[in-house]
Amino acid sequence: MSRVFNFSAGPAMLPEAVIKKASEEMLDWNGEGMSVMEMSHRGKAFMSIASKAEADLRTLLSIPDNYKVLFLQGGASQQFAAIPLNLLGDKKTADYVNTGMWSKKAIAEAKRYCDVNVVATSEDSGFTTIPEFSSWKLNPDAAYVHYTPNETIGGVEFDYIPDTGDVPLIADMSSTILSRPVDVSKFGMIYAGAQKNVGPAGLTLVIIREDLIGNASDSTPAMLNYKTHADNDSMYNTPPTYSWYFAGLVFEWVLGKGGLEGIGQINKAKSDKLYAAIDGSDFYANPVEIRYRSWMNVPFTLKNSDLDAAFLEQAAKKGLATLKGHRSVGGMRASIYNAMPEEGVNTLVDFMNEFAKENS
Ligand SMILES: *Cc1c(COP(=O)(O)O)cnc(C)c1O
Repeated sequence: MSRVFNFSAGPAMLPEAVIKKASEEMLDWNGEGMSVMEMSHRGKAFMSIASKAEADLRTLLSIPDNYKVLFLQGGASQQFAAIPLNLLGDKKTADYVNTGMWSKKAIAEAKRYCDVNVVATSEDSGFTTIPEFSSWKLNPDAAYVHYTPNETIGGVEFDYIPDTGDVPLIADMSSTILSRPVDVSKFGMIYAGAQKNVGPAGLTLVIIREDLIGNASDSTPAMLNYKTHADNDSMYNTPPTYSWYFAGLVFEWVLGKGGLEGIGQINKAKSDKLYAAIDGSDFYANPVEIRYRSWMNVPFTLKNSDLDAAFLEQAAKKGLATLKGHRSVGGMRASIYNAMPEEGVNTLVDFMNEFAKENS
């Protein structure tokens, strides 16, 4: 058996050491005589798995005590609706920043519930930059400000946390969570689908300041109400137990890499190397303003798109999988999340150099 370097944007590569550990524990977790999948979520064994995972996540992100961590289902996409339902309170408007496809989806969903004020957009640049913060038209009466720190499709990433004063800042961190240190106390809420940097699909993390819980509109379904899940330690109904367990193994693995400082340095080195290969040739191009280039998702195009198919086919032969770009951007996209080893990026860069030489 040989594993490929999988550059998929999500579900994405997971650390091999973690998959091995999970497979060793598959039939019999810690002498329980059953798989984690088969355990009651209310039993002692799973409770210990669940609380260890939360504790490790709190350590990794230095989550302050006045924040709840919720382990939910429904994906980041479900949060697009849950956020206005829970956070509008008696306000009628919320601020959104539009930096790409995921921002747009969040905006479209929020429009069902409130007046959406798009405070800044980079759409006219083709989403290749972040609008200058000083130009944002923030509304001091907004219920919250929503933004997408890393746009998975465009490969655009904020290198700072916007200061929204007293208005809670809400971040869709699906494709950047745990990739580098972040100050959680600057946010009202952070959420992320798990399948990029955390674990298997089916789990959604919500990290939310306690004072923002309990203000949901009356029509909010119980399952979408943060209070329901906060009051029940994410066990109001059956949580995604196996994904929760697996995420816990990933948290342990990140801690073993030196936490977010350690993994952040590795991620910076990996992305620097790949962008250097792109910029160092006139065969490849990445359109994103250098300052805002993503450390996680690196889209690039070939000088001649007629060569795309050959590039993908030859890459696959070298064990470099899933490099095809998103249909809206074209070309290639290399997603290099935490679990992509440096060796994977090195192999990709070597292949890119070779391919450029042969086809120039
Ligand atoms: C993948 C992704 C989503 C969608 O996540 P689901 O869990 O599939 O709903 C939302 N936002 C961003 C930034 C993403 O990368």
